[in-house]
Amino acid sequence: MLTIRNLSKTYPNGVQALKAVTLDIPTGMFGLLGPNGAGKSSLMRTLATLQEADSGEASLDGIDLLRDKDAVRRVLGYLPQDFGVYPKVSAEDLLNHFAALKGYVNRKERSEVVAALLQQVNLWNVRKQKLGGFSGGMRQRFGIAQALIGSPRLVIVDEPTAGLDPEERNRFLNLLAEIGENVVVILSTHIVEDVTDLCSRMAIINQGQVLLTGEPLEAIQSLDGRIWRKVISKDELADVQRRLTVLSTRLVGGRPVVHVLADTQPEAGFEPVAAGLEDVYFGQLTRHRASLAA
Ligand code: ADP
Repeated sequence: MLTIRNLSKTYPNGVQALKAVTLDIPTGMFGLLGPNGAGKSSLMRTLATLQEADSGEASLDGIDLLRDKDAVRRVLGYLPQDFGVYPKVSAEDLLNHFAALKGYVNRKERSEVVAALLQQVNLWNVRKQKLGGFSGGMRQRFGIAQALIGSPRLVIVDEPTAGLDPEERNRFLNLLAEIGENVVVILSTHIVEDVTDLCSRMAIINQGQVLLTGEPLEAIQSLDGRIWRKVISKDELADVQRRLTVLSTRLVGGRPVVHVLADTQPEAGFEPVAAGLEDVYFGQLTRHRASLAA
């Protein structure tokens, strides 16, 4: 269990990236969902000992994440948002190098660990190829391999599916789903489907604040019967947005389809739809933005 209590961070330029963030994160897949600029990376980097918080606490099974940095680094696997690789080095050589840094001093043991990881992430056949020629998906799978060196108990992946095509994304998420049961895995993302597909628990954050935490399914059920859908024309959109609580608008076949939150049918022509995590997410963001504007 990872516990985070009242974690706050203000950058020197005055941006308050984390505002008393409190979360309990059990083992398994945890989705940290929020728009760009919400504070996800700030939180991930703090937990990964790469930057300091101003105040608050964080601990993993008794390890003080904010003070006991050497202990954290022994149990941590981290795939940063901007994971760069050396383009002229082969996957096998670079992974071998990372394994040496992680403390695998015995050559034979190290090459066994590297081989097992390359197989796990399905890069064994291309292990001799230079990383510069890898696709985005291959590079992210390499990123997971390096994060898993040394069987970490806390795995942090920051926006890992941004920029992957649907097939690569699926492959990557399946790989994440296979990480051990006794590991805390935090998946930070702005993509709602990443959380829906994979995470048994989640939190939604915006402007450094936790808006909601719990199980995606429960959060979805709490909206049951309150999401209404209508296909409208583009001219109507602004009016509908003024009159009703519009959670989302997406174009289907070139026409806007709106989702509206309301306890009863808001207007003629609206039909009830099953709520999804996207409705939960946009519902939370809409409410939070309204409260900030008030
Ligand atoms: P996310 O990962 O959710 O996109 P970030 O944690 O990167 O969010 O950013 C949160 C806020 O903090 C943003 O307003 C961002 O501009 C700001 N920020 C992030 N890193 C820095 C930094 N090193 N210095 C100043 N402001 C920063």
